[in-house]
Amino acid sequence: MQFETLAIHDGQTPDPHTGSVTVPVYQTSTFARSGLEYDGGFVYSRIGNPTRQALENALALLEGGGHALTFASGAAATMAALHGLRPGDHIVSGIDVYGGTYRIFKELLAPMGITTSYCHGGTTESYLEAIRPETKLVWAESPSNPLMRLADIRALSAGCRERAVTLAVDSTFASPYFLRPLELGADLVVHSTTKYLGGHSDLIGGAVVTGDEALHQRLKTYQAAAGAVPSPWDCWLVLRGLKTLKVRMKEHESNAMHLARFLEGHPAVRRVLYPGLPSHPQHELAKSQMKGFGGMLTIEMKGGMEAAGKLISGLKLFILADSLGGVESLAASPSKMTLWALTPEERAARECTEGLVRISVGLEHPQDLEQDLKSALEGCR
Ligand SMILES: *Cc1c(COP(=O)(O)O)cnc(C)c1O
Repeated sequence: MQFETLAIHDGQTPDPHTGSVTVPVYQTSTFARSGLEYDGGFVYSRIGNPTRQALENALALLEGGGHALTFASGAAATMAALHGLRPGDHIVSGIDVYGGTYRIFKELLAPMGITTSYCHGGTTESYLEAIRPETKLVWAESPSNPLMRLADIRALSAGCRERAVTLAVDSTFASPYFLRPLELGADLVVHSTTKYLGGHSDLIGGAVVTGDEALHQRLKTYQAAAGAVPSPWDCWLVLRGLKTLKVRMKEHESNAMHLARFLEGHPAVRRVLYPGLPSHPQHELAKSQMKGFGGMLTIEMKGGMEAAGKLISGLKLFILADSLGGVESLAASPSKMTLWALTPEERAARECTEGLVRISVGLEHPQDLEQDLKSALEGCR
């Protein structure tokens, strides 16, 4: 079956007791047992809950198989994906990763003796060259935040497999509609369901998906034991979001493509980072591993922070906010907002210049969005 059919039907059969077409919100902490012997059913909602189960089944299908586990946030899902690491182990990560992921590497793992090397540029060679004997995991965010770099997941997973290193891909920006890392060879896929999967800026959640049965069992034990599980209600909201994922992603993309083309020609803009533009250095890779280019784009203003500030304060439709992937268009300054906690040196090392403006393109009419950008850019020249 095709993606949109799976998104609407699978893991979500009508409720056997009532015929309810949508999966009910099983808002319960515990479940009555049939007897003293465990009968395989639900017991306690930290361990398992039917609404969460329905979401996990649906997510696994959309990622092309395997098993999904959901968490209370994307950051909790990231911690789950990393929990098998032990003191002395080493991670290789692209430098351009979500700020919260960088914080986990630096502030939670490094003090435990789990170190991270960052590769610049994001080429397969730069990831593989950074691998050492003690490297256990490669972390790739694709497309990355905020520079929209791609990892070549086919080539990287082959290189990781040869070296017996696990490859985890944070696929939040693409969503499974545009990118399915497991099918390209990745071992783990991580999502912040807060973003496109939920899609309406109304929840915080995360997920880890893997095709490896043994890895899944370890993650499942971690999920039950560490307990950073999503509420049934939040699971239900993500399930609802999934049903329209395809139509939303297609519209996010066509709006983003429209704006990327408009911005690329604008005299106040130095460069537009969007994998759908032929000027993107990895445009061919994007075409070969993704079904589409997504709804996120980043621009660099010629006038640096001053121009970025003017653009942002001149916008009326775009909301100044940190998140992404919702129906409403958002704009953010990575150096003042999402990567603010970093030192200036850290920001420089990851090429996060002050003129960057990250845009999450929403589902408004593209002409209205273009007009809003156009008038805000007037003040920037
Ligand atoms: C938002 C985000 C996260 C973290 O997810 P939360 O739901 O905010 O905890 C991780 N990776 C990427 C790429 C994100 O955009």
